[in-house]
Amino acid sequence: MSELPAAVAPDALAARAAALDAADPLAHVRDRFALGDTSRADAADAADAAEAGAGGEAGEGREGREGGAAGGAAGEGAGAVGRAPVYLDGNSLGALPTTVLPRLADVVAREWGELRIRSWEESGWWTAPERIGDRIAPLVGAAPGQVVVGDSTSVNVFKALVAAVRMAPQGRDEILVDAATFPTDGYIAQSAARLTGRTLRAVPADGIARAASDRTAVALVNHVDYRTGRLHDLRGVTAALHAAGALAVWDLCHSAGALPVALDADGVDLAVGCTYKYLNGGPGAPAYLYVRAEHQPRFDSPLPGWNSHADPFGMAPGYVAAQGPARGRVGTPEILSLLALDAALDAWEGVALADVRAKSLALTDFFLECVAATAPAGRLESVTPEAHAERGSQVSLRCVDAGEVMRELTARGVVGDFRRPDVLRFGFTPLYTRYADAWRAARVLADILVERDTAAGTADTADLSADPGVLPGAGTETRPEGQPEGDREGTP
Ligand SMILES: *Cc1c(COP(=O)(O)O)cnc(C)c1O
Repeated sequence: MSELPAAVAPDALAARAAALDAADPLAHVRDRFALGDTSRADAADAADAAEAGAGGEAGEGREGREGGAAGGAAGEGAGAVGRAPVYLDGNSLGALPTTVLPRLADVVAREWGELRIRSWEESGWWTAPERIGDRIAPLVGAAPGQVVVGDSTSVNVFKALVAAVRMAPQGRDEILVDAATFPTDGYIAQSAARLTGRTLRAVPADGIARAASDRTAVALVNHVDYRTGRLHDLRGVTAALHAAGALAVWDLCHSAGALPVALDADGVDLAVGCTYKYLNGGPGAPAYLYVRAEHQPRFDSPLPGWNSHADPFGMAPGYVAAQGPARGRVGTPEILSLLALDAALDAWEGVALADVRAKSLALTDFFLECVAATAPAGRLESVTPEAHAERGSQVSLRCVDAGEVMRELTARGVVGDFRRPDVLRFGFTPLYTRYADAWRAARVLADILVERDTAAGTADTADLSADPGVLPGAGTETRPEGQPEGDREGTP
């Protein structure tokens, strides 16, 4: 078991967490989410005291069905001390905003149940994909009229990549893809390359600027790496691609809603992103597609369905593309999940993205500090960049028995996720995560590691300290981009 650095006693960290929460300009936004708690500090304090008395968190309940504990039902997660789990998996499935249930009830009972087909007009269903796109637009730095919502991210990656190849200068024979990409992007890129007769070349995201040449039609890059949490240089890479005459397609799944994105200002050609992570749209919520206004007239969709036709109800045999972002549509929109997303976006009212970014960095800094102060030395290695300019909104820690550790964390009311082979992933959603949550997560993690190592004997094999990235200590470095193969989980 490690000794705590003298300067950072647990009491001091708990007090810091309380002070940071008290000064947090986004603290009130947590009340817009159903997290199974009252979010009142006194309740948390009482629970902390109870826990300190009990000497641990073993008495806490289970998380229960994640994402399913809706409508404020505290569920099993409340446990013996009446407290909800710490939810650090909003980068996989965002929590439920309280506006969603009443809105969906109305959509189902009245708009569908009573108005039925009239709702396509009278309830604005037909125009929902562009209208809701315009609500997402400010979150990704886009002026209105460039974002359409519908289909999955995977499908939108396909549309964007093939359309980009069709827009690229003649004679460009390769597509570049971020080598560490979330797998679906890689699979789709492979298929898009086969269909368009191009070669797919996988390049680490930080090498794409150098790799771009007059052979490159387009590059597909992730803004934030889903596994390490590394933030890539959207502006710089886009500029380098443009200098080579190529187009830039960005995947914003792990950045939009967690940090400011400037698609218009940074010259991005096309972008996609999902809405069920930091945008809290709900499981399977439809994704979005951004097509830069100046490209829209040349956007030639590989999936030209009737919904993107200039005159959808003309039912003409020949296809004529609609103008504007509707060109990115395919078939009938997913109205129920689309309108759940619409309601979920209410959570952003009055929220400044600068505050979101500041809190995200402060939360992840604080969590890393808490982990460094409490976890057994050499037991964990952060693969998330220390430098703010390179960090998204998650912390990924390598840990020898990560799968079992995450199971135990979840059992004790701290929910993150596990990415094979050895990564503990903790997502920090600035809209609802508290500094006290970061502290509690770090402390429960340390308890688990100490217990496991004690049980396994003192001469355990879990020491990673030969690695330069090991916590704790200043100057923690991250591993290079290359990921071990075959280590990816099926859930995003
Ligand atoms: C989450 C995620 C996806 C998800 O794609 P779906 O089609 O919604 O399953 C795709 N790409 C990246 C980079 C992601 O993080």
